[in-house]
Amino acid sequence: MAEVKKIAVLPGDGIGPEVVAEAEKVLKRTEELFGYRFETERALFGGIAIDEKGTPMPEETLQLCKNADAVLLGAVGGPKWDNNPHALRPETGLLGMRKALGLFANIRPAYIFDCLKEASTLKPEVLEGTDLIVVRELTGGIYFGEKYRRDTENGQEAVDTCVYNVMEVERIARQAFVIAQKRSKKLASVDKANVLESSRLWRETVNRIAPEYPDVELEHILVDNCAMQLLRRPSSFDVIVTENMFGDILSDEAAMLTGSIGMLSSASLGEGSFGLFEPVHGSAPDIAGQGIANPIATILSVALMFRLAFGYEDAATSIETAVKAVLDAGHRTGDIAKDKSRAISTSAMGDLIVNAMSK
Ligand code: NAD
Repeated sequence: MAEVKKIAVLPGDGIGPEVVAEAEKVLKRTEELFGYRFETERALFGGIAIDEKGTPMPEETLQLCKNADAVLLGAVGGPKWDNNPHALRPETGLLGMRKALGLFANIRPAYIFDCLKEASTLKPEVLEGTDLIVVRELTGGIYFGEKYRRDTENGQEAVDTCVYNVMEVERIARQAFVIAQKRSKKLASVDKANVLESSRLWRETVNRIAPEYPDVELEHILVDNCAMQLLRRPSSFDVIVTENMFGDILSDEAAMLTGSIGMLSSASLGEGSFGLFEPVHGSAPDIAGQGIANPIATILSVALMFRLAFGYEDAATSIETAVKAVLDAGHRTGDIAKDKSRAISTSAMGDLIVNAMSK
């Protein structure tokens, strides 16, 4: 009998509960098909937790996550809480959660579904075969370095400091090498080593551990060049690893290659196999409560959870194959439909994917 995997489920706000409900159907179907066993428990997080518990990240929610093997998150936020003080904002809960769980690696896959090529702003022939992952360092760099202002004879001066130490670079690079080993064994490490000292340490550290992964072909690429090459030859990338700010920018650029935000999954990982899995999109207040949101990003986040947290490659592939089959058959939610009048609902999309899953 398979070991029971505990999953903390945080539906959150807006379309969060709607898309998470479809992901839960996928978990149930996976149990039936593959014999894996999941114990799911829901908890309040984000705006709804502010309303009901007075804080975006209640202690019991954090404890549930800490005791789980993985976390599945919908989305948080919405206009209702936009003017709240910092501590009472849903996004503050999200940053607090990532920190409290020690999640230092953000993983974002970007790949092209053939039938959605026309939704991208790039030419189909450029996109052909694109299937890459951006691994972004999440807890260091210029976002967390010392910040201050001082007066000078030229007026006020603002300083942001970019700091990385060897341990921080090593642990994110190791995550990226391991992910690359499971894919096409190509890793691009992105830095600005021609200018930045932190980038030179980054490059030295990546080079030092590279011999431990002899099957992975490593290339170093400067961030400005990488931004260009992502548009010129996206299919030549496999795994990209980079520091926090470069990763923030490059992962959004890579995401746009694929066309719709409703399709993009992500994972935040710490030490070991534990991780938080969520769609890239937010709570989409403009369409919340209408049953029309695209659940594919959240369903693909479950596939990512199976692959990265549980090592259930068979079930991950089953989900991805089912999503592709449903799209190939022409089914679309409103965000990806050419003919909006034929768009299907969130739950209809979830049901089609569940029914298309096979062993
Ligand atoms: P958003 O991603 O929620 O929405 C942007 C646009 O994309 C909207 O038009 C929306 O309808 C559409 N969209 C998003 N997901 C979709 C889906 N699954 N199916 C169909 N259409 C979809 O971004 P936003 O409007 O900038 O932010 C709304 C709220 O979400 C804000 O409060 C923001 O802070 C929050 N947010 C949360 C997260 C998160 O929880 N990780 C991430 C981003 C934004």
